[in-house]
Amino acid sequence: MRKCIDLESQPGFQDIYSPVLAQAIDRGLQGHSGTGVVDWGYLPFEIETGPIEGQPPSTEVDNTVPPVDPAIINPVITGSNVYFDSLINRFITADARAIINRFPMANIEEGGGQYSPLGYKLITSKHRSDSAFVLFHEYGHHLDHVIGNRQDPNGFFKGSVPLMEGIVRDADKNKLIVNNTILWDYIFKHGINFGINSESKNTKGGRVFKLPKGVDRAEIEAKMQEGDYWRAIQHLKLHTKKQMQNANLAKEPVAMRKAKDAYESVLKLYDDSMDRHKAVYKLILEAEKLQKQITQKFPRKGEGLHDFLTAFSDMLDGMTRGEVMSYQNVTGDYILRAGHAAGYYSMRMQKDRETGKALPRANRNAGMADESIRAEIWANMFATWGATDKTFYNWLKNTLPETTIAFEKQMKAAMDMPLVV
Ligand SMILES: [Zn+2]
Repeated sequence: MRKCIDLESQPGFQDIYSPVLAQAIDRGLQGHSGTGVVDWGYLPFEIETGPIEGQPPSTEVDNTVPPVDPAIINPVITGSNVYFDSLINRFITADARAIINRFPMANIEEGGGQYSPLGYKLITSKHRSDSAFVLFHEYGHHLDHVIGNRQDPNGFFKGSVPLMEGIVRDADKNKLIVNNTILWDYIFKHGINFGINSESKNTKGGRVFKLPKGVDRAEIEAKMQEGDYWRAIQHLKLHTKKQMQNANLAKEPVAMRKAKDAYESVLKLYDDSMDRHKAVYKLILEAEKLQKQITQKFPRKGEGLHDFLTAFSDMLDGMTRGEVMSYQNVTGDYILRAGHAAGYYSMRMQKDRETGKALPRANRNAGMADESIRAEIWANMFATWGATDKTFYNWLKNTLPETTIAFEKQMKAAMDMPLVV
């Protein structure tokens, strides 16, 4: 989806630091309107939920609007649509509703799942089994923006800024961070060149991944299509091993030592990555178990189901910067149950969801990729923290303690802010 807006008249335009808007600028400069005129477009924040194994897809549910208890504390009236108000008033806590009521309301419309800070436009699903979850996730993006705006009026989605340090420490503690410097260093020193067959369902026909030496990480990632991150690691593991074997045959001691060092450092990256896959899978299995318990309380016939497994899986996708997703796109070994599309949490290329065609990257530097990570983790945190069922949030407090503490601090700050009259 694309939307045309007049960006230059927006306050703080010069200070914009947002993946959505950076992408808007890139895409706008490409003239996506097809009119030859520069326009500004954005792709939605959206959770890509496929492919998922063992998870029932979102289904249509009863399309009536259930009544809200008139005695409810802190009722929310968004003014958008009674159905969305009904979800908010039935399935999120009075504390979360109090925060919603302190800030300008989002303008909610029916659609897939996206949020734009311009016009506070929130698009979400209606009468589907995941409607509550999608709405609360997107409303989280809105609060990130409006709360953040009070703390730092320059820019978008600033409420989640204080989460980043805790996110990194929690990711590290859970063994979700792999030092992949060797990958970028190796390509910088030697270049890379390997063929890609059409083995992946996402890659139509063969192609070559080829870069000369002397390219830095940002330049390398800018050429990586979905799955290429993992393919490059797989390729270098084989390639450096072969070079080591050749050096051993030539029996030249200096070359032998160099080749052995190169192979061992690539092997370490490979092994560390495989260990991370195991760590992620262990967490997913725990989350899956909890989700099963919660699903029994909220049978998947109504919109009240809090889809924590999807939220948590997306958080892990962010914390691993799309690298576990890259592995599973190549191998078909589905560890994560949901996440964002290629390139969303890194400087790598994106892909057109319909055609599978590679698109330019969304994030031109590491800071922009970090912004996507914290913005999505915030949105998933809000959906989890605000949920009436606390089973999952209590588990999350142990699993991601620093992230949850930083988030709660921001919720408290939001409650303590003087109201704008
Ligand atoms: Zn989102």
